[in-house]
Amino acid sequence: MPTETFEFQVEARQLLQLMIHSVYSNKDVFLRELVSNASDALDKLRLAALRDDSLDADISDLHIELEIDQDARTLTVRDNGIGMSYDEVGQLIGTIANSGTAEFLRELKEAQDGAGAEGLIGQFGVGFYSGFMVADEVTLLTRRAGEKKGTRWTSRGEGTYTLEEADDAPQGTSVTLRLKPADPDNQLHDYTSVWTIKEIVKRYSDFITWPIRLVGEAGSEDDGPAEPETLNSMKALWARSRDEVSEDEYHELYKHISHDWRDPLETIQLQAEGTFEYQALLFVPSHAPHDLFTQDFKRGVQLYVKRVFIMDDCEALLPPYLRFVKGVVDAQDLSLNVSREILQQDRHIRMMQRRLTKKVLSSVKSMMAGDAERYATFWREFGAVLKEGLITDSDNRDAILAVSSFATTHGADETVTLKQYVERMPDGQESIYYITGGSRQSVDNSPHMEAFRERGIEVLLLTDPVDEVWVDAVGEFEGKRLQSIAKGEIDLGARGDEKSEGEREQQAEEYAGLLGWMSERLEEDIKEVRLSSRLTVSPACVVADAHDLTPALENMYRAMGQEVPHTKRILELNPDHQLVKGINQAYREREDRSDLAETAQLLYSLAVLAEGGRPADPAHFVKMVADRLERTL
Ligand code: ADP
Repeated sequence: MPTETFEFQVEARQLLQLMIHSVYSNKDVFLRELVSNASDALDKLRLAALRDDSLDADISDLHIELEIDQDARTLTVRDNGIGMSYDEVGQLIGTIANSGTAEFLRELKEAQDGAGAEGLIGQFGVGFYSGFMVADEVTLLTRRAGEKKGTRWTSRGEGTYTLEEADDAPQGTSVTLRLKPADPDNQLHDYTSVWTIKEIVKRYSDFITWPIRLVGEAGSEDDGPAEPETLNSMKALWARSRDEVSEDEYHELYKHISHDWRDPLETIQLQAEGTFEYQALLFVPSHAPHDLFTQDFKRGVQLYVKRVFIMDDCEALLPPYLRFVKGVVDAQDLSLNVSREILQQDRHIRMMQRRLTKKVLSSVKSMMAGDAERYATFWREFGAVLKEGLITDSDNRDAILAVSSFATTHGADETVTLKQYVERMPDGQESIYYITGGSRQSVDNSPHMEAFRERGIEVLLLTDPVDEVWVDAVGEFEGKRLQSIAKGEIDLGARGDEKSEGEREQQAEEYAGLLGWMSERLEEDIKEVRLSSRLTVSPACVVADAHDLTPALENMYRAMGQEVPHTKRILELNPDHQLVKGINQAYREREDRSDLAETAQLLYSLAVLAEGGRPADPAHFVKMVADRLERTL
């Protein structure tokens, strides 16, 4: 097969440009990325050989080699791992599959200014391509374990790469960087220096569980035969006690397994002794990935058995609502052949899941007690996911509620826990009031809020889609019912200017005719029109019956493909509002009520708009309003 030249995919080209023009201030990390890929390749080969004993591969001495050639100014990172086939090289190296990287490029384009871009870079891993920060040409030679022929890939990072078959490739992958000319002012970053390379490996890759050896001419600075030197300690961090390991070392492990370039928010360690022994090292990232709520989000931590890597994304170890947690779990007593199916049913694994879940929740609790700012970051990034646990994990519901906090009408930036809410509830208040909706602004300005605001009653502002569901599932807290202010009849009790019983009865009588007539006119949309006790400023609002689905919930079920009947809601009128009074007067005086029917329709649409909804027929609504405005000119 002749040498073929290919063009990089557009995103790949953009990324390479960034690398070549050297946007990262810390170029040393290229080595971490290449070593990380090599380590993964070794993990994959060991596993493949375990699963398939007919695989024609040598796993007797799996390792990573670094080779410096000072005369040629090259640095080679070599592994004897799984390797890649010809097609795989084209797919994996020529395109950008990693969705995080694609997102990074999108954000980078949006951040036009240099400073914004600078901040973004460094947050995203760019893997293999980072080699182009330090090299003007990169050659990758690889042979997939079990295959006869290898592949050579070469590029200067400029837009094209070449692929050719290679007969002489050993098993695994070697990446050779032709280094850019040395910077005489910056000896520390000369990657042909043995000292520099040793330093970088120690700093970023010490925990890698495979030996990283320095070979070749540079390995022998004195005379005599070149003995390869192992640069890393290979100690599994999760098996060591916390005081032996530095924060930086934990962070580098996190970056290796998560492909995140930022430090984690929290490091959690657990070492279980006894009949079923295991060690866990878990991390809470500092940022939620953008695809956290998508179907194909890869969740779960890495599973090792007796130090042998078994699988990525082991979902059996943590419940779905902790899917953002990264890390390693190393179990002593599982079979190396364990499969995902077996794990799902294994009794020990379920016990591990329970224990790990409690451990994560308790560390969030300590974060909350000890470091308000860090907790606030946690909750902003992962609160919406954690709240799913209120619905799905009744065993841990109390623990999850204890670390959950909510926006509130009492303070623009403040959040409050249910416990705090109940503690500061005035005497006589029996319910925990909340409102759900699409955004802080829409719930804050909702007409449902009026009477509560006037009386200074605290209302929780719940704006995540999951909120609709968990409030129903939880129902009450410390004996206080969770009550939506947009549902059912609300009796807020006495207020200074409260009407007397007699006045109320009289008002009810005055409006009885209008309410009945409007209920009929609006029959298609609503089930009842009644007078409201929750409005002070607005003329009308729509509310749900106490046990009805809210529109947001209806939409959610539909989005999940479930059939739900449309629930009609209730229109409430403010009897003290001039517009409502006027309508009532017109109703009582007029014989021809056709115009009034349109007004009723408009009033209903306004109520829908006010809570952030949209009228069923917006075009018709606009026409009605426009006609009326015209008449006022
Ligand atoms: P990432 O490691 O984030 O997936 P990279 O660009 O570094 O992104 O690598 C892309 C893919 O190429 C890897 O996921 C892996 O499948 C493959 N790859 C990279 N380096 C090696 C290697 N040394 N051996 C085998 N496969 C590799």
